[in-house]
Amino acid sequence: ETQKETLGFQTEVKQLLNIVINSLYSNREVFLRELISNASDAEDKLRFEALSNNALLEEDPDLAIHLSHDSEAGTITIRDNGIGMTRDEVIENLGTIAKSGTSDFLNQLTGDQQKDAKLIGQFGVGFYSSFIVADQVEVTTRKAGTESSEGVHWVSSGDGQFTIEPAPDAPRGTTVVLHLREDAKDFADGHRLRHLVKKYSDHISFPVRMPPEPTGEEDENQEDKPAEETVNEATALWTRPRSEVSEDEYKAFYKHIAHDFEDPLTWSHNRVEGSLDYTSLLYIPGRAPFDLYNREASRGLKLYVQRVFIMDDAEQFLPLYLRFVRGVIDSNDLSLNVSREILQNDSTVESIRTALTKRVLDMLKKLANNDPEKYQQFWDQFGQVLKEGPAEDFGNREKISPLLRFASTHTGEATQNVSLDDYVGRMKEGQEKIYYLCADSHQAAKSSPHLEIFRKKGVEVLLLSDRIDEWMMGYLSDYEGKHLQDITRGSLDLDEVESEEEKKEQEEASEQHKDLLERVKKTLEDRVKEVKVTKRLTESPACLVVGDYDMGHQMRKIMEAAGQ
Ligand code: ADP
Ligand code: MG
Repeated sequence: ETQKETLGFQTEVKQLLNIVINSLYSNREVFLRELISNASDAEDKLRFEALSNNALLEEDPDLAIHLSHDSEAGTITIRDNGIGMTRDEVIENLGTIAKSGTSDFLNQLTGDQQKDAKLIGQFGVGFYSSFIVADQVEVTTRKAGTESSEGVHWVSSGDGQFTIEPAPDAPRGTTVVLHLREDAKDFADGHRLRHLVKKYSDHISFPVRMPPEPTGEEDENQEDKPAEETVNEATALWTRPRSEVSEDEYKAFYKHIAHDFEDPLTWSHNRVEGSLDYTSLLYIPGRAPFDLYNREASRGLKLYVQRVFIMDDAEQFLPLYLRFVRGVIDSNDLSLNVSREILQNDSTVESIRTALTKRVLDMLKKLANNDPEKYQQFWDQFGQVLKEGPAEDFGNREKISPLLRFASTHTGEATQNVSLDDYVGRMKEGQEKIYYLCADSHQAAKSSPHLEIFRKKGVEVLLLSDRIDEWMMGYLSDYEGKHLQDITRGSLDLDEVESEEEKKEQEEASEQHKDLLERVKKTLEDRVKEVKVTKRLTESPACLVVGDYDMGHQMRKIMEAAGQ
């Protein structure tokens, strides 16, 4: 009797597969990178598990990835002897998408192939990229530590369902067989596959082995020939000296660890020796992942200890406001059996975190100085997150402040591209403060009556309209010795840019309109604290001002929404 079962893919997988097959056509070769990347992750996980349970390595401790093809049959086979999967894991990992926000992501897809291809890259299709080139995919797998009878055989044509049945005598690890589509048969070619391994997977720490190419002189020294040869570099990329790693290798490595299809904006690779001993390789991605604002979204670095993979998403090494950073940290100080709990209160981790934070802030500073265009791209993607910095990491606010970008009355645009240095460089003679205004939208900021006097006097005002802005500004009181002044608050002493004469005029006006002021105050009763004559308006008859130490307008709204 058969134990074969047919199961349906989760709806999201079906949708994704459709799009993958249709829109990634021009970038088909990425399937190999994705499958080798998975194989490498599986070897990493096994090596980690084997630290505490050596028996998992069975009789097969040589961790390697094997790649072969059969041009006649039109198949490619990728085999690893890594951690493998149980039946439940196969169904979960190869039949569903576990990421939160998946349906939101799918809703963003437009049907425009180019745009969708970009979005999909951002989302990461991983294993499902097999179906770009294959019309049938077979996976045989057995979880390390389970009986040889517990193997699983999974087959799908990517059309909505898959079958699953026991695979007796499956070796430990996972074998993926791709039955290539008619128009993708040319991938079953030794030269081409070698080339792709070099191009995309050279940096993988485990050897990728292939059978030697036939030379035509086969029958002679058949015996001495190695059964397989290693085709990649097979050393952990970050352990190599910087001077020996090419830009392309750095980029390819980024794609492997970040599960991104696009190049990073910049990176920083450092070996630190001394009281701390570690290597870090940190990348700034070119785009936000689709779930950047999801608080449960994975973040953090890939942690290795003495070259052994320990965990993904080790979030203890960077503060939350730098959660967009991707990379690797390899420590020689931590113990191989370190856990997330231990990382939480470890003084070594704390020191590394302090150093890495500085490293990232310096990397951003360099990017801003050397390549403003790329920096702008960074800001547009991640600026909102970096704005959490002054509050979360008050000690580094002086490093963070120059990285901030704002919309301003100087440019008149909504784009946030004015730095505090730009502002200071344009300050008027005698101007001592940096003026800003917070509102619910850029449009509202731009048309605020509070700006009238500044327009008249030609004094620049930063226009802040992100939800987080007012909160952030609460942590930034000065920049380069200049006070940051909210122009909707308290008395506005534009004194510095104001003549004695103007001051006198104001005093006289107050005296002259004393009765009016009192009448207005009486009518409004408790609703206002004070009624004053002002010069901050040139067109509007009146405006509301918040006291210097009162809660700002946006903040009050947030508190109200929270029921306070
Ligand atoms: P990702 O690698 O981003 O997690 P994939 O779609 O590439 O996403 O893979 C989904 C999951 O399937 C992996 O997280 C892993 O748990 C499992 N998987 C895929 N390939 C292998 C493999 N060769 N060995 C063990 N598990 C695998
Ligand atoms: Mg993957």
